[in-house]
Amino acid sequence: MKITRFVPSVLFGENAFDDLNAWIDKLYPNPQQYTVFVVDAVHRTTGLLQRLRPAPQDLVLEFDAPSHEPKTSDVDALRDRIVAEKGSELPRVVVGIGGGSSMDVAKAISVMLTNPGSSADYQGWDLVKHRGVPKIAVPTLSGTGAEATRTAVLTGPVKKLGINSDYSMYDHALLDPKLIETVPEEQEFFTGMDNYIHCVEASHGSAMNALGRPFALAAKASVENFFLKEKNYADFMVGSYFGGSSIANSSVGVCHALSYGIAFILGYRHGLANCIVFNQLEEFYGEDVRTFKAMVERHHIELPTGVTKDVTPEQYEKMISLTYMLERDLVSTFGPEFKKALPPEKILELYGKM
Ligand code: NAD
Ligand code: ZN
Repeated sequence: MKITRFVPSVLFGENAFDDLNAWIDKLYPNPQQYTVFVVDAVHRTTGLLQRLRPAPQDLVLEFDAPSHEPKTSDVDALRDRIVAEKGSELPRVVVGIGGGSSMDVAKAISVMLTNPGSSADYQGWDLVKHRGVPKIAVPTLSGTGAEATRTAVLTGPVKKLGINSDYSMYDHALLDPKLIETVPEEQEFFTGMDNYIHCVEASHGSAMNALGRPFALAAKASVENFFLKEKNYADFMVGSYFGGSSIANSSVGVCHALSYGIAFILGYRHGLANCIVFNQLEEFYGEDVRTFKAMVERHHIELPTGVTKDVTPEQYEKMISLTYMLERDLVSTFGPEFKKALPPEKILELYGKM
């Protein structure tokens, strides 16, 4: 049984951020209860943090996205902080404000407030037992689609893998295109390409269906328009939401499978890691890789080269096993016999070019 899932309600428009508190009160009309805001620490400098109007009982937690992508230990520590301050009282809602990193931290906190143990215990598919606290996404960087997917991607002690569950989907999203205008251009490019790559992989994969495909096509076109024609922030932001909606109902592919090793072992951030990998995948995604290269060139993006030159045999072994951990995505790309299409030697050959 395959159930299709979408984030059920969206507040959209320039300066919609100013309506956040009123929307929360409308959705969860219990002003005595507290709200948890998880905010990307960069918003101290963009001014967005200063525009938040928390009530005295609310908790504003910053996530240091400028320094790193989320770890299971970050989520556990923030959850523990909430419990230390509020005991067993649950918030009425958790609001994630930021890029994919901060939105994923907020998603994971919502789940970890109602499920015991460490977030590392839930990295995988459908391991979450109990519905989380309600949650609202407020993206300030477009591309991951985290505002619309089932995933909260975390790096744990042994792997980088998402908590993938119906309970790790947002209940609502506030899309304010003004919020993404402060993103530095390179970051805008790398995360925008994450959306592009999601859509290419999903469209080529067997996990795609007629309900997810139009979202992927629209999202892909939004990225091409943004980077090859005109920068329309509203379209770009909607494109990310559509890309996430498509992924929520399909699967990524071989680029993401290979990029997790680059991220986990070599420390590259998600969007850049995907670009490094996708640049070498013309044999799988021909025309789309050529379009990607045109966007790279047009925006004078310098992708790093020789990134794997110092990788040890032990590290390669781990990178291969991380790649195969994304089995669902590889099955969608190559079919159940994916190890024949992508044997370890082929993985090494591809990594060797990066
Ligand atoms: P990010 O959230 O890591 O942020 C990248 C940088 O942009 C940070 O320095 C951040 O502070 C800054 N930033 C964010 N908004 C800004 C703004 N408005 N102005 C200025 N700077 C701003 O980047 P990302 O690419 O959005 O997210 C990457 C993370 O998302 C990774 O952990 C990746 O694995 C995950 N991811 C999740 C999903 C999902 O479905 N949940 C999908 C893809 C990727
Ligand atoms: Zn991605």
